[in-house]
Amino acid sequence: MEQVDIVVIGAGVIGLAVSAELSVYGRSLYCIERHNSFGQETSSRNSEVIHAGIYYPKESLKARSCIEGNKLLYELCIKNKIPHRQTQKLIVATSDAEIADLKDLFKKGTDNGVSGLRLIDKKEISRIEPEVKAAAALVSPSTGIIDSHRFMQFLVSRMKDNNAEVIYNSEVAKIQKTGSNYKITIKEQKSEEFSFESRIVINSAGLESDTIASKVGIDIESKGYRLKYCKGQYFRVIDSLKSKMVNRLIYPVPKPKSAGLGIHATPDLAGSLRLGPDDKYIGRDQINFDVDINQRDKFLDSARNFLPFLEKGDLIPDTSGIRPKLQGEGEDFRDFVVKEETDSGFPGFVNLVGIESPGLTACLSIAKYTKKLINHLL
Ligand SMILES: Cc1cc2nc3c(=O)[nH]c(=O)nc-3n(C[C@H](O)[C@H](O)[C@H](O)COP(=O)(O)OP(=O)(O)OC[C@H]3O[C@@H](n4cnc5c(N)ncnc54)[C@H](O)[C@@H]3O)c2cc1C
Repeated sequence: MEQVDIVVIGAGVIGLAVSAELSVYGRSLYCIERHNSFGQETSSRNSEVIHAGIYYPKESLKARSCIEGNKLLYELCIKNKIPHRQTQKLIVATSDAEIADLKDLFKKGTDNGVSGLRLIDKKEISRIEPEVKAAAALVSPSTGIIDSHRFMQFLVSRMKDNNAEVIYNSEVAKIQKTGSNYKITIKEQKSEEFSFESRIVINSAGLESDTIASKVGIDIESKGYRLKYCKGQYFRVIDSLKSKMVNRLIYPVPKPKSAGLGIHATPDLAGSLRLGPDDKYIGRDQINFDVDINQRDKFLDSARNFLPFLEKGDLIPDTSGIRPKLQGEGEDFRDFVVKEETDSGFPGFVNLVGIESPGLTACLSIAKYTKKLINHLL
């Protein structure tokens, strides 16, 4: 049976970042992907925002990997000419009551190590973003946007340069521990199966990362790895003049225990403006990427709180994505799981579960951390 050193399951931005990071050690590495190209799921259905790391509890993996990932991502984009823009972001308070929340966010972000945050008043908001209506705002200078497709393309080419490969149209169907290896059985498109063995397995299967963990024999209930799906939809502003009325990302103050950051306005690199995502928990059998036109008024009402120039006819349905969340509806914060499973009897098996936002921002940091967990095996 063919044997490789490392198998990475899933060619989303996390699997690709981990594969690119591990490919430099001269070990044989396959990244297995069920679709015919990379980044076909959550990694191409997000806001493409390079987050700063403001919202997450201090010392959480989300906070640490976001802050480190932000820095690594800008450096990599600059060095390799990957399209991106450090737009900055405003979190806006639309009432006096929300100004206290902004002060809390300022403190939280600063404690986390986010540099350059500052609170500004109405007068300064109208100077820098004259079309935005708000009582006060928190400016985040390190927030930006990235062309995530070009970024993933870059990661694939870095892998290729190091002789690591993405194997497409191949679904991981079974994983069995065999002595010190793992036997991976792949189902190809024509339903043909083949198997090979690997010493190290990295599970970065996104929405299916809990299923993959359970395939090897990990009890995902007792480990707390069971995912909940939370859909986020976007609407696009069709009027090209209105799309250019804001230069920065504009976010509301997030609601406590909310599944998302609130419907926000995100300019993209092509010069258009998107609103979203909203958040709605769905069943695992309810996956679809339709955008419900009946939600348009909800989007409009939310956005008009701080972008009063928008009108109903300005919005058309755009894309949607599904968050792989560990936090259930109304529940408290849950961190990313990045775990090498020796203590469950699966040495060399690393689970990356619940990698929702800010996973795109954090991916290079998560990749470094993953490498650290298996360093002794490389
Ligand atoms: C609406 C929304 C907005 C977001 N906005 C942002 C943002 O602005 N900034 C940010 O930093 N983050 C954002 N995120 C989070 C970010 O998109 C994710 O954290 C990131 O894309 C996760 O990447 P991934 O590789 O883990 O998952 P995915 O991209 O889902 O990749 C997993 C891959 O595994 C494959 N796979 C699954 N099962 C198998 C199997 N059995 N065999 C083979 N392959 C398999 C899938 O086909 C898929 O390609 C957002 C997420 C959503 C949903």
